[in-house]
Amino acid sequence: SEAVLSIRNLTVEIPTRGGILRPVDQINYDINRGEILGIVGESGAGKSMAGNAVIGLLNRPAKITGGEIWLNGTRIDQLEGEDMRRLRGKHIGMVFQDPLTSLNPLLRIGDQLTETMLEHLDISRDKARKRAAAALDEVGIPAAAQRLDSYPHEFSGGMRQRVVIALALCAEPSLIIADEPTTALDVSVQAQIIALLKRLCRDRGTAVMLITHDMGVIAETADRVAVMYAGRLAELGNVRDVVTHPEHPYTDGLMGSTPLASKGLKRLRQISGSMPRLTAMPEGCAFHPRCEFAQDICRAEPRPKLNGGRSACHFPIQQPAEETA
Ligand code: SF4
Ligand code: MG
Repeated sequence: SEAVLSIRNLTVEIPTRGGILRPVDQINYDINRGEILGIVGESGAGKSMAGNAVIGLLNRPAKITGGEIWLNGTRIDQLEGEDMRRLRGKHIGMVFQDPLTSLNPLLRIGDQLTETMLEHLDISRDKARKRAAAALDEVGIPAAAQRLDSYPHEFSGGMRQRVVIALALCAEPSLIIADEPTTALDVSVQAQIIALLKRLCRDRGTAVMLITHDMGVIAETADRVAVMYAGRLAELGNVRDVVTHPEHPYTDGLMGSTPLASKGLKRLRQISGSMPRLTAMPEGCAFHPRCEFAQDICRAEPRPKLNGGRSACHFPIQQPAEETA
C-alpha cells in the first residue's frame, strides 16, 4: 500500500489513583506518501498525544496499551531506546511549536544540520556541509552560506522555524510530524511557514501529520483531515468534503468558529460548553452534552465509532443531494 504511516486502534492510557485515563482511544488513520493529514481539535483532544506515541515520546506514566503503529511496513510501537531514537532521526522529522525545543542553543546551525546528515545519510562531511547551506537556502534563509556559523538565538522566531524545517527534512525522512508549527509565530509569518512546509513536503513526497487547533490552517493546507474529540476520531475525510459539508456536529461547530478567509465565509456560531475532562468522560457519545442533535441513543453505550465511515455520530448531518445538470 501507499501508506507511510498506519495507526491501528491506537490506545494510550494513563494510570491514576482515580482510575485509568484514556487520552487516545482506539484511533485509526493512514498517511500516504506526499499527503498532508491534518489532525484538528481543541486542546486536550489527544492530538499531540497520538503524535508523541508515534515518535516514542510519551511522558510517563502515559503509555501505549493497545493497537499498532506501522511506518513503511515496519511495526514501530514496541521499539524502545536506541532503536526508537535511530528510527526517529532517520525516518521521522519533527517540527514543534517552539523552534528552540528542536535546536541545540549551543551549536551553530550549520553544525546541527551537518551532524544530523552525517548520522543518517551516507555522505562525506564536505558534502553534508554543502547540503546544509543548500537546505538553508531552500527554506528561505537569506545569505544561507554565511549563516551556517550562526547560533539559533541569532534568528527571529520565523527564521528559526525555517531552520527547524530544514533540520527536520535534511535526513530525508518519509514522515514529518508538525505539532502546532506556527502557533507561536506572528500571524504575518504563519502563512509563509505553512506554505513552505507544504511545498517542501510535496516536492519530496514526504507524508505530513499536521497537528493544529486551527481549522483555518487545515483548510488551507491538508489533503485529508482527522477531527479528534475527547481522545477519539469524530470525523475523517477529504479536507474539501469535511470543510464544506461537515458530518459530525462537532466538526460543524469547529467550522462555525473558524473564519475562512479564502472562502469569504465567516460564521459566528460557537460551540457552547467545553470538552469533557478525561476524569469525567460522559457515557455514550462524548460530545452529547454539547450537541444540539443529541437523542437518548447518544447518551447510551457504546460510544459511536467511525467504523470505516466518515463520522462517529448516530445522526450525521445530511449532505446536500448531488446536483444534476
Ligand atoms: Fe450529537 Fe448524538 Fe452525533 Fe454525538 S452521536 S454528535 S450526541 S448526534
Ligand atoms: Mg498539543
